[in-house]
Amino acid sequence: MALSDSTEIHQFICLDDNFGVLVHDRDSGTTIAFDVPHAGAYEQALEETGWKLTHILITHHHWDHVQGLGELKQKTGATVYGPARSAQKIAQLDRTVEDGDHILCGPYEVKAISTPGHTLDQISWYIPSIKMAHTGDTLFSLGCGRVFEGDKEMMWSSLSKLLRELPDDTAVYCGHEYTEANARFSLTIEPDNADLQSRAQEVSNLRSQGKPTLPTSMGVEKATNPFLRAAEASVATALGMEGKSAADVFTEIRTRKDNA
Ligand code: ZN
Ligand code: FE
Repeated sequence: MALSDSTEIHQFICLDDNFGVLVHDRDSGTTIAFDVPHAGAYEQALEETGWKLTHILITHHHWDHVQGLGELKQKTGATVYGPARSAQKIAQLDRTVEDGDHILCGPYEVKAISTPGHTLDQISWYIPSIKMAHTGDTLFSLGCGRVFEGDKEMMWSSLSKLLRELPDDTAVYCGHEYTEANARFSLTIEPDNADLQSRAQEVSNLRSQGKPTLPTSMGVEKATNPFLRAAEASVATALGMEGKSAADVFTEIRTRKDNA
């Protein structure tokens, strides 16, 4: 696809374990930042790539996602989009989105998918034309966000929504590099899952080389991430929860992770 051919994505670590993500279209010069954990890290990334920031998309109001927003917006003049629900909390939003809204960032049509649970305002951003999504602190590789503002049933329904909306070949970016700890926990839920075993091995190899484990793909996560697999009979069986609802199984997995 012509559009994909001119797209480049740059991912880098901000703060301790937050990701910065830039999506750039060479033809139009459009550059999108997802969240701003740290302005300086983004400025450095923009300088290294030579890209000029045009849009900033915010996933949720937590400080480690918006801390650098004011400074980066001021220095670049980029237009900031974020959840309508946090319009009061995030002073720098230029435009707000609700569930299902489509916005245009240069050549990219970006869909806002509301995925509450970690926070009530949480938006996952999806760009179908380049098969890419940023799931903020909702979906991590081999994990999901801790449930702070919603409840566990709400989080399960948000993850189910991502399962419905994002095809297997979607490249998934997210807010944090938590995958190694997530892999250790996931293996306690499904020790015999061969796909999980090989992903855990890959993750440990990547981390020992100091490399990121993201992006992942929906296909990989469907096969390995216990939080996304709560509807699988094999997962219910592994937990001794045969016949229980997916939401109940998810709640058990999330509770175990909270106490791990
Ligand atoms: Zn968060
Ligand atoms: Fe976070």
